[in-house]
Amino acid sequence: MSAPACLYCVGTEFDPLHEGVRDRLGHVPGKRRFLRCRACGAGLLDPLPAEAELPGFYPPVYSFTTEHAGGLKSLLAKIEHRVFFGPQYREQVRRVLDACGRSPRGRRLLDVGCGKGMRLTELKRAGFRVTGLDFQPEAVRYVHETLHVEAEIGGTDDLPKLFPPESFDVVTAFYLLEHVRDVRRVLADCFAALKPGGWFLGAVPLADSIQAKLFGKRWIHVTEAPRHLSLPTRKGLRIAAEAAGYEAIHFRPDAMLNAAGPAASSIVSGATLTHVYGGGKWLAIAKRLLGGALTFAALPLCHLEHAACDRMSHGILCARKPGGDHAAA
Ligand SMILES: [Zn+2]
Repeated sequence: MSAPACLYCVGTEFDPLHEGVRDRLGHVPGKRRFLRCRACGAGLLDPLPAEAELPGFYPPVYSFTTEHAGGLKSLLAKIEHRVFFGPQYREQVRRVLDACGRSPRGRRLLDVGCGKGMRLTELKRAGFRVTGLDFQPEAVRYVHETLHVEAEIGGTDDLPKLFPPESFDVVTAFYLLEHVRDVRRVLADCFAALKPGGWFLGAVPLADSIQAKLFGKRWIHVTEAPRHLSLPTRKGLRIAAEAAGYEAIHFRPDAMLNAAGPAASSIVSGATLTHVYGGGKWLAIAKRLLGGALTFAALPLCHLEHAACDRMSHGILCARKPGGDHAAA
């Protein structure tokens, strides 16, 4: 087996980071470990699973939707959308608009890893002409048939096949890069899909944050392995984005609720979407409610790590493709 290389800076020297990590969803048996890149600090799952194994790591219920069979869970999903997911998506759309710095009206946006399209709907409402891409066929069908949003079935390696070069003004990828084996290739393919002057916006959990340090091996982004293959840092992402050719690289904090939710979930295990909406019983629902309350309690911590300490736990990599008329915008 070849020696591991960092998915961000291609460094080949590592220290142990986390040992004996179990899947928080209980979907993939066994224990695994993360290494830490000496050069950029990013975490790397070791050994890295083969590409063909990855789809099997995802349970049927994985991303949020308000469509449930009915009854209590349907009501719970509606409440979650009202108090947590809806505000979070709208805040993320504002961050996208701020980063792009111009009117979205008529501009083409691709969301890679769109899941069931809840965020995509908000981006469309803001004025973008949106397209989604996801590897889960049932998610894409839902986006296409129920939300009436253009979407394609495909993995990140299908990007060049599905979309001609310079197709989009904006490419977004919310919590995607930590799931892929070849981060640098994905950044390069998104670069190719962007028009000159277009923006790539990638939201990621950050391993160089206070939250990551505080929770250690219990951090939800660690126990999300083996679906999470890496734990990026700002330094590693910057190196990877520069290598792909981007300019104006900077980071913005993600929506505060999206930083607080993972903190709460790191404390209350078993309160996941998969547990609750994938056949969970009363205990899972009770834990979900406790997790919801803790989310709001964790908001001050998230504000502190973002604003006072500059150690954001959930950030958006903002990187522009050179060229275009952005200078005049
Ligand atoms: Zn590295």
